[in-house]
Amino acid sequence: MTAPQEHLPVAIAGSGAARASRSLPDPYTPGHGSAEYEVSRYELYLDYRVSSNRLSGHAAITARSNVNLGTVTLNLAGLRVSKVQVDGQRAVRFSQRGNLLFITPARPLPAGTEFNLDIRYSGAPGPLRGNWGEVGWEELTDGVLVAGQPTGAPSWFPCNDHPSQKASFGFTITTEANYRVVCNGVLVSRHAKASRETWVFEQSEPMATYLATVQIGRYDLRPIALQHHSPSHRAEVRDDGGPRLVPQYVAAPPALMVPAAAALNRQEQMMETFQTCFGPYPFAGYTVVVADDDLEIPLEAQSLSVFGPNHLTQQWEDQRLIAHELAHQWFGNSLTVTTWADIWLQEGFACYAEWIWSEASGSATAAARARSAWRGLSVQPQDLVVGDPSPELMFDDRVYKRGALALHALRQAAGDELFFTVLRTWTHSYRYGGVTTADLVVTANGICAGLPGFNAGTILAPWLYQTALPPLP
Ligand SMILES: [Zn+2]
Repeated sequence: MTAPQEHLPVAIAGSGAARASRSLPDPYTPGHGSAEYEVSRYELYLDYRVSSNRLSGHAAITARSNVNLGTVTLNLAGLRVSKVQVDGQRAVRFSQRGNLLFITPARPLPAGTEFNLDIRYSGAPGPLRGNWGEVGWEELTDGVLVAGQPTGAPSWFPCNDHPSQKASFGFTITTEANYRVVCNGVLVSRHAKASRETWVFEQSEPMATYLATVQIGRYDLRPIALQHHSPSHRAEVRDDGGPRLVPQYVAAPPALMVPAAAALNRQEQMMETFQTCFGPYPFAGYTVVVADDDLEIPLEAQSLSVFGPNHLTQQWEDQRLIAHELAHQWFGNSLTVTTWADIWLQEGFACYAEWIWSEASGSATAAARARSAWRGLSVQPQDLVVGDPSPELMFDDRVYKRGALALHALRQAAGDELFFTVLRTWTHSYRYGGVTTADLVVTANGICAGLPGFNAGTILAPWLYQTALPPLP
């Protein structure tokens, strides 16, 4: 199957509402997300008992209607809503059917109206089963992990669940006092009262619902990396507009702190390399959480990543994952797909970042990694369209590797200087926003306009929209 190349350079930009209506409904995640309204803010107050897996939640949501809105439809799964207010009014009908919450205000909300939802809910949260195994809220042996990609967010809060629908978040989480809570963004305050402790986090940069997370465990928190710099060097790095010094932390069980710090001992260099290649790190800080339970794969969330104790070696297979998850802060978290079909814009970039780090760290060059990935792909079935891989195969390794090869092809055509200018312009122009493949084509063609015959659409199309593997670039 071959998608015509004319699909590529379509119009970009437009209002959020226009983008939402183009992105939704998303055939990859039917039933998730609504184009009828946009959320600008989720304020989540959660009271949680680790011992009994009991969650009592209050979501205060600020939104705006895109249409004349008689009923507001949200995603919420496995939790029971007890009370709803719209703009402080109690005369509101609501019902739950399947994994949807329907809220009908006393009067319809005309298009363009700002409104507030207050939703009280509770239950025993658990992961949701889907095409991608279990996603969402998950109990650990002694704590909690939330892995929301792609449709796990409704397992713990009511939301407009689609990556095109980004909003700021506040988290106020109360749980047993002997646990540490890590959420997205910045820890604003914590206070203990008797045997309970409350943690407040602010995630001010817009965030997709699937990237929202809460991690609870018997974790210590330690800064990493900063000690490698003298204060004078720090000032120098900041003033010359070069890589910004980013506060980095590791949250881990005390017994895992030493192996965790050892595994992450080059992460600060990764951060510098990636800021040089991709532009400034987009968030206030970066925390690596190491859970006490082994994990199949590490997971990215906005401003943090989660690893298992089984990912903590100096071997390339682990080091590449540390680079991969860090790179998602630019590609996936700051710049987020507006439809899941474009998942290569996240996974292909994060995979290419592994190769960039490999070369920068003195291991195999990016070209060598590309060659070896190409050889691997050449003996696999060539029946996948990377630019629209189907919901079942959106996390197939071929999307990652071939997506990275598509970028390598772009680099070969543009040359290093223009290629990295494209990447930095890309992350700057679409910072905290939504992106499509067409946006990338327009950005690359703009930067490379002086190169005779250069056309990013023509370069990318065989990698993204044909099944047959193109020759190694
Ligand atoms: Zn990834």
